[in-house]
Amino acid sequence: MARKLAAGNWKMNGVAADLAQISALMATHPAPRSTVLICPPATLLQRMADVVAGRFAVGGQDCHAMDKGAHTGDISAVMLADAGAGYVILGHSERRADHGETDAQIARKALAALAAGLVPVICVGETEAQRDSGKTLDVVAQQLAGSVPADATADRLVIAYEPVWAIGTGRTPTLQQITEVHAHLRARLMKQFGPQASDIPIIYGGSVKPDNAAQIFGLSDVDGALVGGASLKASDFGAIIDALDAS
Ligand code: PEP
Repeated sequence: MARKLAAGNWKMNGVAADLAQISALMATHPAPRSTVLICPPATLLQRMADVVAGRFAVGGQDCHAMDKGAHTGDISAVMLADAGAGYVILGHSERRADHGETDAQIARKALAALAAGLVPVICVGETEAQRDSGKTLDVVAQQLAGSVPADATADRLVIAYEPVWAIGTGRTPTLQQITEVHAHLRARLMKQFGPQASDIPIIYGGSVKPDNAAQIFGLSDVDGALVGGASLKASDFGAIIDALDAS
């Protein structure tokens, strides 16, 4: 797994016609140096996997902790892998907020993902109130400790730092704030995994756009981005990939 990762989170956006954006991206970016990951809605996973044909990675946006069973509306990690996914986003703040997901649930989902051969992209991040009250580092450390399963391995794990207040708002933390949190996460990962933790991609998410990507990717311990809105348009996501490749 390359350490530099440009991951697009399409959230609940995209129908078959939008696959054209990825065809366009592949035409302008036939061989990016960074790993490019697209996480479409589950309805498009299989078709996205067919379109990218192994040149980009494909991922789910969530999975259930069980492989199968009576869980109407849920999708298992095994099913994501079967549809062509190699990754799955877990613990996105929209899942934590909209579905009340806890760190313990996210850790169980991560175990299921690993067992199915997927790489979990585990999201952590503080709310604005938590940042304002000086709790950011404690919050992300606690989420990390609770969400990353004890028997995860450094070679199959991605961490995304996503301040909740920066997602979809056009606001971003200062470069110093991003650096501080990523260094803190790296230090915690080193404690858990030892020296191999230096290879775990820690990516930043929250209003990454073509015009701020290069600055963010220039920071130490920032290994890429989890991109929402700007991943829906080939030209914007392509510019972000270019910035990562150049960093
Ligand atoms: C996200 O969905 O994880 C995200 C970071 O969204 P946006 O880039 O739109 O802020």
